[in-house]
Amino acid sequence: MKYKKRQFYIENVSAEKIAKKFGTPSYVYSYDKIKNNINNFKKKFKTINPLICFSVKSNSNLNILSIIHKFGLGADVVSKGELLAALKAKIKPEKIVFSGVGKTIEELKFAISKKILLINTESENEIIEIEKIAKKNKKKINIGIRLNPDTDAKTLKKISTGKKENKFGLTEKKFLEVLKKYKNSKYINIICLSVHIGSQITSHIPYKNMLNVVNKIIQKSKFKFKYIDLGGGMGIQYENKFKKLNYSKYNKLIESFLIKNNSNIIFEPGRSIVGNAGYLISKIIYIKKTNSKNFVILDTAMNDLIRPALYGAKHRILPSKINETKVSKNHEFVGPICETTDKFLNVTRYQKINQKDIIVICDVGAYGMVLSSNYNLRPRPAEILVNNNSTKIITKRQKLNNII
Ligand SMILES: *Cc1c(COP(=O)(O)O)cnc(C)c1O
Repeated sequence: MKYKKRQFYIENVSAEKIAKKFGTPSYVYSYDKIKNNINNFKKKFKTINPLICFSVKSNSNLNILSIIHKFGLGADVVSKGELLAALKAKIKPEKIVFSGVGKTIEELKFAISKKILLINTESENEIIEIEKIAKKNKKKINIGIRLNPDTDAKTLKKISTGKKENKFGLTEKKFLEVLKKYKNSKYINIICLSVHIGSQITSHIPYKNMLNVVNKIIQKSKFKFKYIDLGGGMGIQYENKFKKLNYSKYNKLIESFLIKNNSNIIFEPGRSIVGNAGYLISKIIYIKKTNSKNFVILDTAMNDLIRPALYGAKHRILPSKINETKVSKNHEFVGPICETTDKFLNVTRYQKINQKDIIVICDVGAYGMVLSSNYNLRPRPAEILVNNNSTKIITKRQKLNNII
């Protein structure tokens, strides 16, 4: 796929070269991939002309956010930190939405002072706090209300957000109650209904169910929302056998939804924009052979990439150089951390590999570096941006001096 003369390439730079130049482990991103993902996303939803707000929590690197801004996207933020990062990347406040179940008063005040497009509220108490701030400032604040549509996203349980047992949004009954109570408020301007049912969704059916619920509730409320924020969640192909989300079907569903409800659509994609644009390059420290398997011990670990340990996610691990020798034995790729869950992948057959070889963990551009930690007092990896044949450090490798 990305091999040239048996060497793994990210754009026009080989993984070997990056490892040599910047050390391992390193997160590496392809500029072109991000650009293409954005353009493809726009193309797929061209007919509904949505406002696309990149979910900053999936990757909050400033350089990545600048690319996001360059290609015209806004931002969906979930903390003051992310809001500051989005603004620093020059994303316009009128293209920023603020989500999250637990925004503090300080965060609300800050968001209001920056005049962002809207705050997606998730509880009545949050609306009460916003009303207080608005009153004090003699302003009317734009908000959205997040609906919990009680829809099964049919994804990993731990990244499902749209069921009634999840903490997110308001149930239908409460939503209608709150809407009625605040729709004529002097200080609150309800302009948006928002939903987000989960992440890594690979079928349009959960979205269809979600749209049905949203449609029903709008009919019931007889309220005109300027915006309908459908969240993100579009899945990517972590493995070749993975199902692909049918964007054209999702787009058609929204088109018919818009015939009944004349609103503007907002999307909050994260993973689908940056997920497959990131790679984690690592070096094999040891290969420990037992009767049943070979443990391939890497210099990267769950502190750098926690998705396998946290969600049971599977990321392909590819050799940086291909050879023809196959070894038919279970290979278990693990990190050096003192936790049994510090394990990336089991592969039943792999090419012959050796100590000091470089491998590439794929599709780590979303929820990779942002979820890294210093567990075991390990410094966080460097982040490198590749554009054609040039490379640039966009986050320096952490120094032990700075974390001890
Ligand atoms: C996490 C999140 C997103 C982004 O989800 P992806 O699966 O990365 O597209 C969008 N909206 C909200 C409210 C979120 O919490």
